[in-house]
Amino acid sequence: MDRTEISTLGEFGLIKHLTENIQLTQPSSLKGIGDDAAVMKYAPGRRVLMTTDLLLEGVHFNLEYVPLKHLGYKAAVVNFSDIYAMNGTPSQITVSLGVSARFSVEDLEQLYSGIRLACERYGVDLVGGDTSASMTGLTISITCLGTAKEEDIVYRNGAKVNDLICVSGNLGTAYMGLQLLERERIAGGGDHAAVFEGKEYLLERQLKPEARRDIIEQLHQAGIKPTAMMDVSDGLSSEVMHICHQSGVGCAIYEDKLPIDIKAAEVAEEMNLSIVTCALNGGEDYELLFTCDLKDYEKLIPMDDIYIVGHITKPEYGMTLVGRNGEELELKAQGWNAFTK
Ligand code: ADP
Ligand code: MG
Repeated sequence: MDRTEISTLGEFGLIKHLTENIQLTQPSSLKGIGDDAAVMKYAPGRRVLMTTDLLLEGVHFNLEYVPLKHLGYKAAVVNFSDIYAMNGTPSQITVSLGVSARFSVEDLEQLYSGIRLACERYGVDLVGGDTSASMTGLTISITCLGTAKEEDIVYRNGAKVNDLICVSGNLGTAYMGLQLLERERIAGGGDHAAVFEGKEYLLERQLKPEARRDIIEQLHQAGIKPTAMMDVSDGLSSEVMHICHQSGVGCAIYEDKLPIDIKAAEVAEEMNLSIVTCALNGGEDYELLFTCDLKDYEKLIPMDDIYIVGHITKPEYGMTLVGRNGEELELKAQGWNAFTK
């Protein structure tokens, strides 16, 4: 039998390959694979959203520098982020664990204190899960349910030509936080506190991200419904590509409009990295990327922590990054891909 390496397909290619031609047969299954969350309809007007995430030790987190409490918090929050990215409200999670003998009860208490804190802050109930022994360290899988009104749901496929492209917060900061942590891990020993001083925000962005519930609330209050939306877990280029592909459009992103944290830029320079490349391709910012009709421009301008970074174009234009001097580059999605070598 032939053998194809997974790396030849990559993560998205693999998902596409495995799930090709899957038919939804339940009348309640409105949207299956392909967005931040699945959408189900059990009652008129209301929708149920569902998303799941898998975190593996050594692939997604390194316990040498990630405290278990932070890990628990983050594992929950990244799921909430996917529900907000549909313009919904998270309501329940289940938590499944694979635990090796290396972990004590106290360790798992720490993990759960983080999960519980996230649930408390976001008003989500922990309603179940599964626990098993593991031969390979710690595995955490969280599934989250949420709800939304039918008319409120925002998919990835609704972007229209001339729509504004917006992002919340800043980009590339979580990646710079990771670089700092990795550098210190490799360096070993030394006075970590001194090295990290003044850079706490970068570490926080990596270790303890928040889901942008506040942005969803702001948009709602302003009467803005995005035409397409998703959260930025894999880097802006890759996420914009999803919206463009699914909406059948192109885009122009302006380099000088990318929201970048000043500290992150300083650290990038220190490490000889391009902060723009990090903003476009770094992972785990958990900000929201959304497109809005041009008529919302006046409302968007005064809004807190929302930045217009470009606009949607006709598909023929492709996906373009407009540089500081007006030069046009093709936007390439490097993304965050655990399957590339
Ligand atoms: P996100 O980064 O928003 O969590 P992913 O990139 O992980 O989304 O997944 C993209 C889509 O593919 C989602 O709809 C997800 O549910 C689906 N998906 C991912 N892995 C699998 C799988 N093994 N089987 C079926 N669907 C999957
Ligand atoms: Mg997502």
